[in-house]
Amino acid sequence: MKEHATPRRSQCKIMANLYTVIAMSSEKTPIAPASNFIRGIIDRDLAQGTNASRHWAGTPGDANHHAAGQPDPAKIRTRFPPEPNGYLHIGHAKSICLNFGLARDYEGVCHMRFDDTNPEKEEQEYVDSITEMVKWLGFGWDAFGKSHLYYASNYFDLMYQAAEVLISAGKAYVDEQSAEEMRINRGTLTEPGKNSPWRDRSIEESLSKFREMRNGQHADGSMVLRAKIDMASPNINLRDPAIYRIKRAHHHNTGDQWCIYPMYTFAHPLEDAFEGITHSICTLEFEDQRPFYDWVLERLAEAGMLAHPLPKQYEFARLNLTYVVLSKRKLIDLVENQHVSGWDDPRLPTLAGARRRGYTPEGFRLFADRIGVSKSDSWIEYTILEDCMRETLNQSAERRIAVLDPIKLVIDNYPAGQSEDCFAPNHPLKPELGKRTVKLSQELWIEREDFMEEPSKGFFRLMPDGLVRLRYGYVVKCTGFEKDAHGLVTTIHCEYLPDTKSGTPGSDSVKVKGNIHWVSASHAYAAEIRMYDRLFKEAHPGSGDRDYLEDINPNAITTIIAQLELGLKEASAGESFQFERHGYFIADQKESVAGKPIFNRTVTLKDTWQK
Ligand code: ATP
Ligand code: MG
Repeated sequence: MKEHATPRRSQCKIMANLYTVIAMSSEKTPIAPASNFIRGIIDRDLAQGTNASRHWAGTPGDANHHAAGQPDPAKIRTRFPPEPNGYLHIGHAKSICLNFGLARDYEGVCHMRFDDTNPEKEEQEYVDSITEMVKWLGFGWDAFGKSHLYYASNYFDLMYQAAEVLISAGKAYVDEQSAEEMRINRGTLTEPGKNSPWRDRSIEESLSKFREMRNGQHADGSMVLRAKIDMASPNINLRDPAIYRIKRAHHHNTGDQWCIYPMYTFAHPLEDAFEGITHSICTLEFEDQRPFYDWVLERLAEAGMLAHPLPKQYEFARLNLTYVVLSKRKLIDLVENQHVSGWDDPRLPTLAGARRRGYTPEGFRLFADRIGVSKSDSWIEYTILEDCMRETLNQSAERRIAVLDPIKLVIDNYPAGQSEDCFAPNHPLKPELGKRTVKLSQELWIEREDFMEEPSKGFFRLMPDGLVRLRYGYVVKCTGFEKDAHGLVTTIHCEYLPDTKSGTPGSDSVKVKGNIHWVSASHAYAAEIRMYDRLFKEAHPGSGDRDYLEDINPNAITTIIAQLELGLKEASAGESFQFERHGYFIADQKESVAGKPIFNRTVTLKDTWQK
């Protein structure tokens, strides 16, 4: 069983009007962070000087330690406290942007804290990947001349002391009931619990038993240390919760030094207090734990181990995003059962996957600002995230030409073996990025869908006897086409009008309605492109009685060979482009080889999903 398990959020409601509110605020430039209830609380605290008297010793510690330090130069302290037992996902990005964003905006600091009090499950691989992703999102933990990267397991000594302080104050006792007895005596939502027969044992006896627990004199699970609160409390979390358990398990940081470990709900408020956190922001499922959080800190303040002002916990709604799953268990399931290629599969909503997909840190920060922070659970439309990526990529990505479904276009009146330069702007919004040269020659690749033998109404591209402009090149007239035995068009023929080259005087003397993109066949790079789409075909995977695996979109990846302008051969891994008329693509960071990049489709130019 997972000791860390907390009550999970109840069924989430869809807040229909939320989407409208969010959709309204679609500025194109980085937006000023929207105000939210947490900012309201911080504004109030700063105005009232709630946290002004705090001291900070430069390292985490108890009240005496901090009292000897300077007044805290940080106006607020927040923290991002992942458990290093998995990879970060898009939901974590919301929490990262919130906590680090608040620290940035309020002249504070956000601690990067690994909540590694649970032995066995934590691994260095996760620690590395988490720090990498937080940095990738654009945040850091260096502030006021110091790094604020912390490991909760470094506080095991202090946590142990805190437990002894509680026992000595008569606020905790060692309980020797079996797990089953404890479960029965906890009561239910409608019935109060029953006091344990060990509840009134003396302070001395509890203290010596607790030391025996620490010294390894008792078997795993034979006894626990419990807070002494109220077995009749309507909040089950206050019915004498366990705060320390015996568990002989190797810990990645402390090795075999401990055979007792603090429970998460006890460890967390202590971590916040030792680090001088002012605003401890967590997701809504911890709301019922808040009274215990406060109880622990208040009791230790009474006993002199901690000092006021104490950290305060505030809860916000976790991110639920349509068309993906953000539960650690399901993500592990998808990876381990090979529904995807690994933790950084570009289809996955992990940050490692999103980065490979071409999603941008700026896009995530914009998304976090746009969706805001609320007190009630809701679902956010995946399109909002995609729009944020489009908006940021539209600013940053240079334009290139790619023919994804190529068919030959032969310019019969263009000399074979000859070629010439055409000039294409790198970024229409940034003329300072200049133009690049693309070669034109007799044989080109164009998109199959840009030719219609029998054009439908409103089709303005290439058709028999029709005129069309080759973007950045000449106007051409279609003179014929060839078909194979199955009636499939294989080659299209045309003639170019020599005086119509884009950028030359009089080039627009011939008016055409259509404009198509192309790549010279002898100057093209035939590249592997992975056309990614959403991992699930249903907005709420697994809703109703379905298994969420049934909702996997089998077309979430399609691999094609496309014809790209030659310069893309030199694209460096991780470079993003807009392929004109198609969308945004990134040179894959993992499987590309130099001079032969593979491209991943990040997102289409427009939202094609809803149609
Ligand atoms: P676990 O089930 O292991 O607790 P977790 O997703 O909560 O999984 P943590 O490593 O504990 O993982 O999360 C670190 C921080 O990220 C926590 O403060 C948590 O509140 C926040 N977080 C996790 N998921 C989301 C989400 N979907 N939206 C917003 N914040 C999230
Ligand atoms: Mg958690």
